[in-house]
Amino acid sequence: MSGMAAPVPREGTRARSTPRDMIGQRVHSLGGRAFALALGVGAAYAAFSYETELNVRRPAVLRVLAPPAPRGRGPAARVVWVLVDGLRLDASRQMTVLNRLRAEGEDILARAEFPTFSGPNFVAQASGIEPAASGVLSNRYPGEVPLDSVFQRAKLAGFRTAVLTTDPDQGLSETYASWTDEAHLEDPDLHLPAADLVFAHVGYVDAAAHASGATSSAYHAAVARADAAIGRIARTLDPGRETLIVTSDHGNLDQGGHGGSERTAVRIPIVVWGAGAETRRRPGGRGRDVGPTIASLLGIGPLSHATGRSLVLGDAVAARQRARARATVSTFATLRVDHVPLVIPIAVIGFFILAARSRRRRRPLLTSPIYAGVFAGLLLATHTLSFSVSNDSAFFGARLLTLTTLAALSQLHLGGRASLVPAALVTSLAVLGVAVAAAHQPLAPADGTVRFLPIPALAGLAFVCLLIAAMGTRGRRRRRSTLRAEATPPAPAGLGRLLGEPDLVEASDVGRLERPGYTA
Ligand SMILES: [Zn+2]
Repeated sequence: MSGMAAPVPREGTRARSTPRDMIGQRVHSLGGRAFALALGVGAAYAAFSYETELNVRRPAVLRVLAPPAPRGRGPAARVVWVLVDGLRLDASRQMTVLNRLRAEGEDILARAEFPTFSGPNFVAQASGIEPAASGVLSNRYPGEVPLDSVFQRAKLAGFRTAVLTTDPDQGLSETYASWTDEAHLEDPDLHLPAADLVFAHVGYVDAAAHASGATSSAYHAAVARADAAIGRIARTLDPGRETLIVTSDHGNLDQGGHGGSERTAVRIPIVVWGAGAETRRRPGGRGRDVGPTIASLLGIGPLSHATGRSLVLGDAVAARQRARARATVSTFATLRVDHVPLVIPIAVIGFFILAARSRRRRRPLLTSPIYAGVFAGLLLATHTLSFSVSNDSAFFGARLLTLTTLAALSQLHLGGRASLVPAALVTSLAVLGVAVAAAHQPLAPADGTVRFLPIPALAGLAFVCLLIAAMGTRGRRRRRSTLRAEATPPAPAGLGRLLGEPDLVEASDVGRLERPGYTA
């Protein structure tokens, strides 16, 4: 900012407009608009893909040596694992059947892993490792996950595996596709495969939370439906030799939504019932403990990459493997993603050049922080600071559009159209600061707000870029001339005049800046 902080009046040198100047000005303006358009599209894309860019394809934990092939001799001959997507801990306490299983088995109060999305938490549970170390940080992880899992261990032990989901999105079935014998888009209530390890994903509870909120009657009806399904599944099992484990991947905010570290999004139930389960209740479980628990029940462990521990049985071999995984994660892993979208430094440099080439007037410069400041204030005031508010892309996009529009109107009203480029420069600097701070945050902080902020920040940058593309960059610094200005073509009266910007029609007020009482 220092390069443009002090306006330099050119005494006695007023520009003279020649046709060549006007053409040059037009070319400059068009070039600036095209540049702003490209930046706007780039920043919008970076905001959209930021979450996916956090994924790490080759996490350090893959260096851990795999344990010997499992023998498959545990207390359970068969495990059915039901994951009720988006089931809140408090809602799970209202489930009649689940409460009965709790009373007869292991009732564990657990925490979902950050970020509290389904994909990262499914992998955390199946592979026994938190997202920060697994590298799976978003639902948009591309393709199969290269981590060991309960499905892989079960297959290596000679067991059959099956994956069921009520959710038409095939992403979940593809996560461990190589280690799955059968995958069905089906309600586990209707048909439970005979496989030794059955994973059943119930998607309609989370869908109800997103559609109607987690305190709605629709949500409670979906929870009751899941409870009845769990009851029917339990009745098909022999608790003397088979085990049912019921988990949730994350909770939901009252209004629906998850991904952040809010209490209602983080607290989840884990219930283990049947062979290998004792009758007890305890806190302190984590999503990453589910895989090791299943592995010890089936006797197929340890999981190569697990940092979690079994909730039902102690196991010295698993403890040694876990120590190796933990040591590797802390030795080799860069426990952060150094992702700063390239469009941000390009915007900083580009708007610095555009601002330097523009006429420097006091009002645009003084008002340049308004857009970024108002937008940041609105993000705070409306609690738009968590992954949990971003689940519905259309709704989130409309929310951001409203906030950016309010910030832009404030900018135009107080700073005028000529202040847009300086405002974009200030915004791009602020967004750069946010992105760099986020890149240096640990991947799984206790409070994930800073991890999330680059998304709305990039959206804010995209909006101001697109606004400049639509409204223009407002002129350029004239070439030095020894002649006094004779004629200055009036600028067209556009939105700037409507927005109360009387100085817009002045071609160049360099030199007026020092005039006493200048308040434009
Ligand atoms: Zn969801």
